[in-house]
Amino acid sequence: MSNNLTIIALGGNAILPKGARGTPEEQWRTVEKAALQLVEIIEENPRVIITHGNGPQVGYLVEAFENLPPGKPRQTLDIAVAMTQGWLGYLITHSLDRVLSGSNKPRIAAVVTRVMVSRRDPAFQNPTKFIGSYYTREEAEKLTRERGWVMKPDPRGGYRRVVPSPKPLKVLEAEVVKSLVDSGAIVVAVGGGGIPVDENLEPVEAVIDKDLASARLGIEVGASRLIILTDVPGVALNYGKPGEKWLGRVMLDEIKKYYAEGHFPPGSMGPKVQASIEFVEATGGVASIGSLGEAYRVYKMEAGTHIVPG
Ligand code: ADP
Ligand code: MG
Repeated sequence: MSNNLTIIALGGNAILPKGARGTPEEQWRTVEKAALQLVEIIEENPRVIITHGNGPQVGYLVEAFENLPPGKPRQTLDIAVAMTQGWLGYLITHSLDRVLSGSNKPRIAAVVTRVMVSRRDPAFQNPTKFIGSYYTREEAEKLTRERGWVMKPDPRGGYRRVVPSPKPLKVLEAEVVKSLVDSGAIVVAVGGGGIPVDENLEPVEAVIDKDLASARLGIEVGASRLIILTDVPGVALNYGKPGEKWLGRVMLDEIKKYYAEGHFPPGSMGPKVQASIEFVEATGGVASIGSLGEAYRVYKMEAGTHIVPG
């Protein structure tokens, strides 16, 4: 039953492109565009699980919490991640439902997904994931005193809250996702990397990387293909530098060597390549990274970068 099961990960830019204000109209437009790209794949193979990022949306919510009137309680980061799963789950399932046609079109459901992380993960000693607003140094110091937030200078300028990005160990809803897929449904899962909980099922204030979480889910449901869609045509060596070279088909050992040479920075291409390596190593399947605008050609391996076993 697990044959040809494909995990498709949508980048945050699929929902909120750079420079967009994030109005509901804009979001519907961009998500519908993404949905149209996926329809071609789904019509050929409906055994699909869709995952998505949530960076802009979780930042928006945390910012909204910051601006609540005095006395109104703020919600925690794990609850904010859960809210983005509902928000984007709605946009994606509704858009897909509208663009798919025919009498036997698949059912679609979004599953609120929790992902287990370890309290001993070194990420808790070194939070790296920027979320929310930008502050001056003075404001940042005040927030650290008053709320205990860890603040770091963002490379773009200003100070921002950083939260830990621990490694996803286990997707708690993997079995239920698998049974929905086996019943013929298209499932949206591990949104925003999943809601982090620890070994004792205590909620954790962190944001898990969505590419690593997608690979984890793919391994647990027995997928044979991972497709990571973003805003570049694939993976490049010397990206943005002289000697830039875009990769087509790459063997596992070769991409590991490039990874060790430092071609893929943390926080952007790094986790995509790491997720691909983990997926291919564990499943013997193929992991592809490519542009959302060319989703079907990436699926057919006519565009994008493809990490293959061997
Ligand atoms: P997403 O929201 O889809 O997860 P990210 O910003 O996390 O997107 O990652 C995609 C970005 O990675 C691209 O926009 C590109 O600027 C950057 N990038 C960094 N290194 C590379 C590389 N070696 N090859 C291709 N893109 C790279
Ligand atoms: Mg990313």
